[in-house]
Amino acid sequence: MTIAVYPGSFDPPTLGHIDIARRAAGLFARLVIGVSTRPGKAPLFTLDERLAMIARELAAAGIAAEVRAFDGLLTDFTRAIGAGTIVRGLRGAMDFDYEQPQAALNRRIGGGVETIFLAADPALQPISSTLVKEIARGGGAVDGLVPPGIAAEIRAKLA
Ligand code: ADP
Repeated sequence: MTIAVYPGSFDPPTLGHIDIARRAAGLFARLVIGVSTRPGKAPLFTLDERLAMIARELAAAGIAAEVRAFDGLLTDFTRAIGAGTIVRGLRGAMDFDYEQPQAALNRRIGGGVETIFLAADPALQPISSTLVKEIARGGGAVDGLVPPGIAAEIRAKLA
């Protein structure tokens, strides 16, 4: 049970994601970042861009994690990797309400795979990819919410 998957859209990766990845990497022998090929909403960044951005920022932060795309059921991905744990970040009650049934059903259909939640760092708790994109679209600065390289990529994408 020492392999964990941290799944998400990472559209784009934020400082909140990097913090959860850093903390999860300290808890497990192997951490795989699962980048969803089909995020719910129309993504701003392509799958290849999201894979490259998160891999680059993890390396820059010195976080030992592999980055892989996954398609379809998260539990098929965890099974393929041999992961016994799914890591998710919890920013507040809304995250919990959304995550709790998924954790229960993933455990049921995923051969007992457990989901563990890491509480957001209070300083990073308000950050979400959605708000970062809204701020950037409105012409606001997203420095301090995402790594510097990501802020530049968002600006370039929206230019
Ligand atoms: P998804 O579309 O799967 O929710 P996201 O990329 O938005 O993917 O988020 C991936 C995970 O990171 C989720 O568990 C989310 O709760 C967590 N997360 C996002 N932002 C933060 C943050 N600021 N602090 C802690 N966890 C976060």
